[in-house]
Amino acid sequence: QPVIGAALPAHDLSVSFEFFPPKTEAMQAQLWDCIQRLEPLAPAFVSVTYGAGGSTRERTHETVARIRQETRLEPAAHLTCVAASRDEVDAVARAYWESGVRHIVALRGDPPEAGTRYAPHPEGYAFALDLVQGLRRVADFEISVAAYPEGHPEAPSLEADIDTLKRKIDAGATRAITQFFFDVDAYRRFMDRVAAANITVPIVPGILPVVGFATAKRFAGACGASVPAWMDELFDGLDNDPETRKLIAAALAVEQCRLLMADGVRDFHFYTLNRPDLVQAICHALGVRPQAAHGSHGA
Ligand code: FAD
Repeated sequence: QPVIGAALPAHDLSVSFEFFPPKTEAMQAQLWDCIQRLEPLAPAFVSVTYGAGGSTRERTHETVARIRQETRLEPAAHLTCVAASRDEVDAVARAYWESGVRHIVALRGDPPEAGTRYAPHPEGYAFALDLVQGLRRVADFEISVAAYPEGHPEAPSLEADIDTLKRKIDAGATRAITQFFFDVDAYRRFMDRVAAANITVPIVPGILPVVGFATAKRFAGACGASVPAWMDELFDGLDNDPETRKLIAAALAVEQCRLLMADGVRDFHFYTLNRPDLVQAICHALGVRPQAAHGSHGA
């Protein structure tokens, strides 16, 4: 089993980072501090989420545009099918293409009100697969899609979920990014099913550093990720001790990544929550270091 300090080649690791579009001036400042801190790590791309129901359409666009203009980072714009007609979604995609954005993370999306059932827009793309097909008609985008190591909560079975993934890849997606997970064995079993389905594109594990354990558990409950009992013990007593919690969270994510690296994983996607500290520390421990050519933003 790999341990911290074991010599592992980091030069072939590739990382990417997810941000969400800020709502307020203060959040905007936090995001740009985060981007400046993480840019020197030369991620393969950075992605910007699309709020439920398209609620962040403009803010996602503005954030992606600013990343393109002010950094050397390659932005990927998330786009969903929710609450918009096919024409409206196509128009958003076309605007991205015209502004030079070449990478879309194509998703079905969730209903704007948590807990309600997803219903496609009457003139919209129903599922991510339909969106991938639509994007292929708009322009020659690089397309990433979502994958679920422990199954999507609405999928009738794990087999049906793999079938959905396979169809999204066959339609033109060239990468899948996974929902976060803490159970590395669940990811391994998922990768066995991926291989059995002859899916050969990179399936990039999505890593969520645990900023707050209660929040991480809530996220996990909503998206079908399991939280192993040992994590309750690990974070027990740390609710009011953010400093120790952060150290534990970094160690946990580093261990998770190292286990995955021992399996041959070389690409990691980090859910940053617009906070650089944990991601920076985890990348450092994995051997991902600032690259001179990437400098800080605007350089
Ligand atoms: P799909 O691949 O369409 O699958 C959705 C469900 O429908 C699955 O259960 C699937 O098995 C089923 N299904 C698929 N096709 C059919 C069919 N033809 N008939 C019946 N059932 C079918 N959400 C946002 O709102 N904004 C974001 O920016 C965002 N970013 C994300 C990034 C990543 C990396 C991940 C993993 C998720 C993200 N999400 C985001 C959440 C995502 O929108 C939800 O998980 C959503 O419920 C499913 O999206 P999908 O693209 O996986 O859908």
